[in-house]
Amino acid sequence: MKQPDAIVVGAGIVGAACAVELQARGLAVLLVDARHPGAGVTSAGMGHLVALDETDDELDLCLLSLGRWDHYLSTQAGLAEHVRCGTLWVAEDDGQMAHALARAERLSRRGWQADALSGADLARAEPALRAGLAGGVRVARDGVVYPPAVARDLAARLVGLGGQAMFGAAVERIDAGTVTLASGERLAAGAVVIAAGNAVPHLLPDVPVFPRKGHLAITARYPRRLSHQVVSMGYGQTEAGSDALAVAANVQPRITGQWLIGSCRQDGILDTDVDPRVLAHVLRSAIALLPCLADMTIIRSWTGLRPATRDGRPVIGRHPGLDRVWLAAGHEGLGVTTAFGTAQLLADLMLERPPAIDAGPYSPSRFAYAHA
Ligand SMILES: Cc1cc2nc3c(=O)[nH]c(=O)nc-3n(C[C@H](O)[C@H](O)[C@H](O)COP(=O)(O)OP(=O)(O)OC[C@H]3O[C@@H](n4cnc5c(N)ncnc54)[C@H](O)[C@@H]3O)c2cc1C
Repeated sequence: MKQPDAIVVGAGIVGAACAVELQARGLAVLLVDARHPGAGVTSAGMGHLVALDETDDELDLCLLSLGRWDHYLSTQAGLAEHVRCGTLWVAEDDGQMAHALARAERLSRRGWQADALSGADLARAEPALRAGLAGGVRVARDGVVYPPAVARDLAARLVGLGGQAMFGAAVERIDAGTVTLASGERLAAGAVVIAAGNAVPHLLPDVPVFPRKGHLAITARYPRRLSHQVVSMGYGQTEAGSDALAVAANVQPRITGQWLIGSCRQDGILDTDVDPRVLAHVLRSAIALLPCLADMTIIRSWTGLRPATRDGRPVIGRHPGLDRVWLAAGHEGLGVTTAFGTAQLLADLMLERPPAIDAGPYSPSRFAYAHA
């Protein structure tokens, strides 16, 4: 095998997007995964493409990425199972409504149309919602995809562009510009990108990525009864380790007519077992917004471990201590939305081009400095 310019470790949606971006910019890329594309948390999440605005930099990365998603979906919408259902952020009381209005204002100011809705508007927009809600925000351009299909497509696209892929090949060790596989084979490259999700700290113990568990459930088919992804205004980041269990309703209409129900966050749990008490809590919070769910049949439930960091931002950029090693990981609950933006930002940094957004908030060295 000819020595690649870059090896990308991890073919989740983040690594696969990075591999294609680098190959498309003229580098010879090898994408390596212990299993197969999309086999990690990419296959466990909800696939909501959503402009989140808890911080300005989060919104910058979301909007950069959503622009790239539009481009990708202009040719691959069917394959990605894309539905532009929009997000309906639901405010249950006046306090949440004030946050909803601020969100509508912030997103609209950045050109991502968001309409504030009164309680009556909300009931008209989504009749399945319970009566008496304060109002909310409709973000029409948000959407839904099926993430593992996108990861598989990107891996195939990489090969189509002349890149290489090795699946079923676990990486055991990372050194400056080299990876060592579990088989003992050593692969050298101009640069190594680590996009191994929750496995990053096993390969690089100084990178503080940790799992945040979420529970999901999916119903049988009930087509044409839910038109938006419905999310409680209470949904979002909780501080790392601050709460044993944070639950907020998040219900997604799938292209199949099924309803995908989430979600919650739990730190410090490493197993992927479904906990019936947690699942019941998630379902109760969804039923509290969408009462008809109580009469629907749940056909499957599962969990996923979001790869998180302490400040809720991914690590994108050069490893602070290892020469020719780069990081793209720790995207928590936004890795599908921000995959293409991450790839663009990382490629700009690696190729020494001016990045489209400020890379500072994502710099891996912020954690090294925090320890200093
Ligand atoms: C419940 C839940 C709901 C979510 N909902 C959303 C949502 O609605 N919208 C959104 O944007 N995001 C959502 N997410 C988050 C999103 O799924 C993740 O941020 C994203 O999938 C992370 O992708 P990744 O490529 O970094 O990691 P992964 O998909 O885990 O990919 C890592 C890859 O690395 C490989 N790997 C690991 N170790 C090695 C090794 N030693 N050698 C070689 N390969 C290795 C794995 O096999 C895997 O394929 C959700 C997540 C969960 C759990």
